[in-house]
Amino acid sequence: MSVTQSPGASELAEYRQEFLMSDQQVKSKATFCTNIQLPPGVHEFEAEGNKSKPAEMPPSMKRLIYMDDRVVPGSFYVEAVWVTAPEPTVHPVHRHDDHDEILGFVSSNTDDPTDLNAEIDLVVDGVKTTITKTCFVHIPAGVEHGGLCFRKIDKPVFQIAMSRQSRFESIPPT
Ligand SMILES: [Zn+2]
Repeated sequence: MSVTQSPGASELAEYRQEFLMSDQQVKSKATFCTNIQLPPGVHEFEAEGNKSKPAEMPPSMKRLIYMDDRVVPGSFYVEAVWVTAPEPTVHPVHRHDDHDEILGFVSSNTDDPTDLNAEIDLVVDGVKTTITKTCFVHIPAGVEHGGLCFRKIDKPVFQIAMSRQSRFESIPPT
């Protein structure tokens, strides 16, 4: 008769020790990042009107994660937020001359994940588009974009942004 046993405390300790030892001996293969702090100078428009405080999101938005080379050396820029209520504050129009960027707008509607249940304005190269479906938006290097306005939020939207720039930078700084 075989009995499935969960590892005992000593086995876990042994595994942990093995992991730690291998981690010390070889270059780390992964870094698990839970950072929500913005590096200095990133998204300072969020602190507009209150320059004494660091960049802070309105209550309708919750920063979930932020990573770039300043947080995890060797990584590139990626961040994500939840948008839970309408927010007219716009991300100023800007561009990144040397790197493409991908913006993602992801539904939380588990019955129809393609339906954003929201209306979000995004201006790309001077043209405003209202996003209502789950999508990724690929923005080539040098193309102006921004003017984000979360006009209607019926269900929370998971918003993500990523770019292969080691540190988030934009022209003008945003
Ligand atoms: Zn951008």
